[in-house]
Amino acid sequence: MSDDPETAERKMRFLFALRQRGVTDPRVLEAMERIDRGEFVRGHFEDRAYDDMPLPIPCGQTISQPSVVGLMTQALEVGPRDKVLEIGTGSGYQAAVLSLLCRRVYTIDRHRRLVAEAEALFRHLGLTNITALVADGSRGLPEQAPFDRIMVTAAAEDPPGPLLAQLKIGGIMVVPVGQSDAVQTLIRVRRGENGFDYDELRQVRFVPLVEGLGQT
Ligand code: SAH
Repeated sequence: MSDDPETAERKMRFLFALRQRGVTDPRVLEAMERIDRGEFVRGHFEDRAYDDMPLPIPCGQTISQPSVVGLMTQALEVGPRDKVLEIGTGSGYQAAVLSLLCRRVYTIDRHRRLVAEAEALFRHLGLTNITALVADGSRGLPEQAPFDRIMVTAAAEDPPGPLLAQLKIGGIMVVPVGQSDAVQTLIRVRRGENGFDYDELRQVRFVPLVEGLGQT
């Protein structure tokens, strides 16, 4: 189905804003053009889906700002054969974008409701290479480790040790670090033969990585 002119115009502005904020990788832009953020934002905020801002989702969480999704995806340097782990499924939007760029995405959230709703959307959109799981993501996913790429979409005080351990040599992890009530720093970690290299990408603001499972 083609969009009405107003929606088409908003989607064009959406892509323009991404480019303007530094998302320049054509593969990332194409994935973000194909995955409709409007599918991942429900109710009250539906008509803000193409604005470059974070929005509330159930369980008191947020869907990230599109330009941050783009910049984090770009920083992860994902390749078509990669096995990717995402911590913090939330709406499922970031996992959906990643799924077009890699072989398989494992995505974990501590809220059952978010995982169930994201899974239903993945099915509806025909995204068959995503596995969504309810678990405490700060422990990673040892049974599927090691991973080529790991993206954490909730803020930790430090990159969690189990996640570092589950990153392949040659692998990359992108993670916001810092106190949850402050501005955090987005870090890219590269694992080499002899250890980890860290570089700071930009300031961001994410909900905290919380240990244990959620109530819902
Ligand atoms: N990537 C999401 C946005 C993430 S919001 C999207 O595209 O919409 C951060 C998510 O991290 C929330 O859904 C929250 O429930 C989850 N989270 C926080 N701590 C967690 C943990 N220890 N394990 C798994 N998920 C966690």
